[in-house]
Amino acid sequence: MSISRRNFIKYTSAAAIGAGVLGCHHEINVSSSTGIIMPKSSKRIVILGGGWGGATAAKYLKLEDPSLDVVLVERQDSFISCPVSNWVIGGFRKMSDITVSYEGLIKNYGIKVLHAEAKELDAENGQLKTDKGIVEFDLLLASPGISYKYDTVEGLNTPDAIDRFPAAFKAGAETVKLAERLAAMKPGGSVLLTVPPTPYRCPPGPYERISLIADYLKKNKPGSKLIVFDSNDGIVSKGPLFKKAWNDYYSDIIEYVPDNYLVSVDAGTGRVVSEKGEITPDVVNVIPAMKANQTAFDLGLMDKDDDEWVRAYPDTFMSYKYENVYVVGDSTHNGAVGGVPKSGYVANSMGKVAASAMARRLNGKEPLEPTYANTCYSLVNEQEGIFVSAVYRYDKNIKRIMSVSGGVSPERKALFAKHAQNWAESIWSDMLL
Ligand SMILES: Cc1cc2nc3c(=O)[nH]c(=O)nc-3n(C[C@H](O)[C@H](O)[C@H](O)COP(=O)(O)OP(=O)(O)OC[C@H]3O[C@@H](n4cnc5c(N)ncnc54)[C@H](O)[C@@H]3O)c2cc1C
Repeated sequence: MSISRRNFIKYTSAAAIGAGVLGCHHEINVSSSTGIIMPKSSKRIVILGGGWGGATAAKYLKLEDPSLDVVLVERQDSFISCPVSNWVIGGFRKMSDITVSYEGLIKNYGIKVLHAEAKELDAENGQLKTDKGIVEFDLLLASPGISYKYDTVEGLNTPDAIDRFPAAFKAGAETVKLAERLAAMKPGGSVLLTVPPTPYRCPPGPYERISLIADYLKKNKPGSKLIVFDSNDGIVSKGPLFKKAWNDYYSDIIEYVPDNYLVSVDAGTGRVVSEKGEITPDVVNVIPAMKANQTAFDLGLMDKDDDEWVRAYPDTFMSYKYENVYVVGDSTHNGAVGGVPKSGYVANSMGKVAASAMARRLNGKEPLEPTYANTCYSLVNEQEGIFVSAVYRYDKNIKRIMSVSGGVSPERKALFAKHAQNWAESIWSDMLL
């Protein structure tokens, strides 16, 4: 389906507004129960998580086999995109621009969307327990995303600290909070952003955010500084391109300190202590270390006791733990899956591979040979973009995903910023419309 930017924005914004007012009568409306809700009458696949991996898998299951009963369990009313959310923090997009309703999946494909919190899994009996009741399945696909490891920084794991030092690496209320704090800061103020150690979601994401906060300060808050404490020993993705942009545009704004772990924060005073020094900035964005979403732990999907990510076979994304449970997206274990970045594009690729394998399995067929791809755009200011791309294949010998080829854009260009906008609209459409 191809749609123009104007129509896309019209559709998504209207749908985003409608979701709160009208949306419910297209969605599964159940009163809370402790028993089975929506009893199963045909082959059913339940998808846990309507983000990049889950929404894609739900739609592509229906494209593979429209007779399948597909139920999407998602706690949020609408899909909110992390890609492009840095543009909201940069002050040149609104949350409504990155919000898409689930109406397209319901109306265009007959997917049942249950807004509920998944709590427990009984894989043996094919049951997912939610706060609205128990949903039965033949196969389950989970794409629950990530959780923050707040407890790796002293003082961070309290509601006050989380409020004072928001992460905004799950697009939503924290994205708005960070944008509002930057807007409220006095000119000549100081901002601190901390980059987590790898693996974390979206390797270039923190560096795009640094660029766009610096761009915002340059235009709106003269004399302000942006200090960056990076836990890694250098820029993790598109390093030379980001560095060149920072040197060309923000040399008097950004102070970048690599190889510098965050040690502690104090929610009362706002003081932040790192291995290389301490400061008390006006606005702080702490992006903590990450692990698979807590839901994956609560559902018992970890293969080994000390695992922090879910192991799955990358040719189908069936989990190591349960044959009837598949896992895709950021929550997957790179050691098991292979060297792919935790990106929305990769989650979308994984969702398609898993959907095909699951639909074929329920129809008694072998999975097809999988392919995967990734492109990550980043803006270095409101006008100019850069990108990294890669193509992957499944290596049958080592049973992992391997990079076939890839590279970064030769330079930054205004055209690439337009591509970034168009990429986002196309992939939201691929997932949700
Ligand atoms: C600032 C930023 C910029 C980014 N830019 C890009 C980019 O340009 N390109 C790119 O490819 N990627 C980008 N990413 C990365 C991308 O957002 C993630 O890789 C992607 O969201 C992963 O998809 P997922 O399905 O694993 O998780 P998510 O998209 O996070 O989806 C998980 C879903 O599961 C739901 N859920 C979890 N637990 C439960 C539960 N118990 N019950 C009900 N629902 C539940 C959540 O509400 C959520 O909707 C960016 C990320 C950030 C933070």
